[in-house]
Amino acid sequence: MSDRRPSPFKTLLEIEVCTLIQAAPDVYQVRFKNRAANAYLVKGSRRTIMIDVGLSSNYPHLLTCLKHVGVTPEMIDMVVLSHEHLDHIGAAYHFEGRTYIAAHRLAANKIMLRDDFSMLRKMFNEPNVPINIDIWLEEGNVIDLGNFRLDVFYTPGHTSACITLFDAEKGLLFAADTLMPGGVMGGVFGSGSIADYIQSLEKLKGLNSKILLSGHGRLSDTPQEDVRIAIQRSHGLLADTAQLFDALDARSNFEPIMQSVRDLNKLDD
Ligand SMILES: [Zn+2]
Ligand SMILES: [Zn+2]
Repeated sequence: MSDRRPSPFKTLLEIEVCTLIQAAPDVYQVRFKNRAANAYLVKGSRRTIMIDVGLSSNYPHLLTCLKHVGVTPEMIDMVVLSHEHLDHIGAAYHFEGRTYIAAHRLAANKIMLRDDFSMLRKMFNEPNVPINIDIWLEEGNVIDLGNFRLDVFYTPGHTSACITLFDAEKGLLFAADTLMPGGVMGGVFGSGSIADYIQSLEKLKGLNSKILLSGHGRLSDTPQEDVRIAIQRSHGLLADTAQLFDALDARSNFEPIMQSVRDLNKLDD
């Protein structure tokens, strides 16, 4: 998947744990070298936001990157969380009190109820601190930063609660784990669905995107190609799971559920 073409994106700072890369004027990617997801900074003329913030332990390094482009945590008006996974949102509690935190309403619900299974707490071993969501987002919401206008798209599949932000004028697509460079699939977790994933990718395919700013990996200036490959792969994944389902003895798998339904029906006897 390594393309030899030199990256059109400029690295501004490289420290031990992360790299700061310019994605577009006033748009920056913080790419961590550990398991944390990418964090993004968008410096608008009226408002400044972050989209995902990575793991809690990376916070000091995140601040170092922000400082490099003249931004302090106090200057961030809102942190938008792409979905509930802790590799994207672990550091969000550090912004509590001085910044609004926003997420899709389904993600907000899971995060507020501290649904550790959905948030993959075991996998990331993050400190068990509450993250409070101030703004519950829906498809169709707009985040207006002055010179950036981000449309909120509901793009479930990876989980039930994923959003994608899109600036139509600049063609910036913040797709988190829904669309990744090279069409790499983000995986389907507990509340997700491959069929939803395909529908979300089809939605993204229809957008006139120019730069893909994903939850993992490099920036991409070929989002149209990325989404085409991702759709192909997701159809392959759908076929694979259908086969897997056939391979398992479906009846014995569902027997406990069917039995409890039969038990319910028996109560009248
Ligand atoms: Zn995820
Ligand atoms: Zn992720």
